[in-house]
Amino acid sequence: MSQDWDAGRLDSDLEGVAFDTLAVRAGQHRTPEGEHGDAMFLTSSYVFRTAADAAARFSGEVAGNVYSRYTNPTVRAFEERIAALEGAEQAVATATGMAAILSVVMSLCSAGDHILVSRSVFGSTISLFEKYFKRFGVQVDYVPLAELAGWDAAIKPNTKLLFVESPSNPLAELVDIAALAEIAHAKGALLVVDNCFCTPALQQPLKLGADIVVHSATKFIDGQGRCMGGVVAGRGEQMKEIVGFLRTAGPTLSPFNAWIFLKGLETLNLRMRAHCASAQALAEWLEQQDGVEKVHYAGLKSHPQYELAQRQQRGFGAVVSFEVKGGKEGAWRFIDATRLISITANLGDSKTTITHPATTSHGRLAPQEREAAGIRDSLIRIAVGLEDVADLQTDLARGLAAL
Ligand SMILES: *Cc1c(COP(=O)(O)O)cnc(C)c1O
Repeated sequence: MSQDWDAGRLDSDLEGVAFDTLAVRAGQHRTPEGEHGDAMFLTSSYVFRTAADAAARFSGEVAGNVYSRYTNPTVRAFEERIAALEGAEQAVATATGMAAILSVVMSLCSAGDHILVSRSVFGSTISLFEKYFKRFGVQVDYVPLAELAGWDAAIKPNTKLLFVESPSNPLAELVDIAALAEIAHAKGALLVVDNCFCTPALQQPLKLGADIVVHSATKFIDGQGRCMGGVVAGRGEQMKEIVGFLRTAGPTLSPFNAWIFLKGLETLNLRMRAHCASAQALAEWLEQQDGVEKVHYAGLKSHPQYELAQRQQRGFGAVVSFEVKGGKEGAWRFIDATRLISITANLGDSKTTITHPATTSHGRLAPQEREAAGIRDSLIRIAVGLEDVADLQTDLARGLAAL
């Protein structure tokens, strides 16, 4: 026998609860079947009782589903849960992380507008800005991430958005998000933060004053390397435009992927704590090794922004990069000597990954650009997974022995 659940009951119990409770329970709307797990709605369209009902739903006079490019109950559950975790008024899911960034710019910028981007953002993000947005008359300039005065000086009267990743990849540089938000707002611009490396478990940019958060859910939100997806979270005013673009243009999230991400969020905080603990242990160990010249990790006292990281983040994340002796040959020998860790540029997986940024993710940059960005030939990046940390250390020791 199905039960008639009060649709509001589940959410009304979540007033004032903590992050871990929201991560498990926010956004679920139980159907009359009384399912305890999140239901997966694999349907492209929805039926109406009468022609008048259809007309009212199409016009928006009566709220409800019409077509899964617009809304889907499983996708909505994921959106509501992310909004709760980021402290956002609203969130909207996208097919990939890149679709989230595309949707923000397409919705909020027009030809003639200007965007300021931190220099060290994800490679495809730079391609999107350089190759495509510029073609549609959106101007783009790049600013070193950490220097607040540089941001202030680079803002123009037509600057619409400031776009940052903090911490950056692969060198774990940070920007003071609260201070940068003030700079943006003083000149009428919005601050967008790609929060992929921290997730809301470690950093909530909206609470620090940012206007919009984007994610590649492909990374830690899934956390187990299964699905592609993304999400944008922010205030109603901007989200209305972004939702409108997504519904029209269609880079929306599939309900299956949304369902996977709902499961991912339930363990997000537990996983991030484990990722951080292992990354911290390995970063401290690497710093002691003869073959290692420098370690970049914001959880180390040697990191120039250690204090800011302590204040701004609840943990330092899974990504550790380090420079080894012997330049590119040394770095390649190190990587090839590992046996357990996967050689792949992805991150945010339960499996630890290792990559050589200078010849993979940053290989398209000219040597001088790489040098300016601090991506040395001797740099190796690991994204620490959930394996036993002693086994990971043993594997990295194989790399050190091969130097
Ligand atoms: C992976 C990634 C993206 C792009 O996400 P996709 O899901 O691959 O489209 C954007 N920003 C950062 C920081 C990333 O790591």
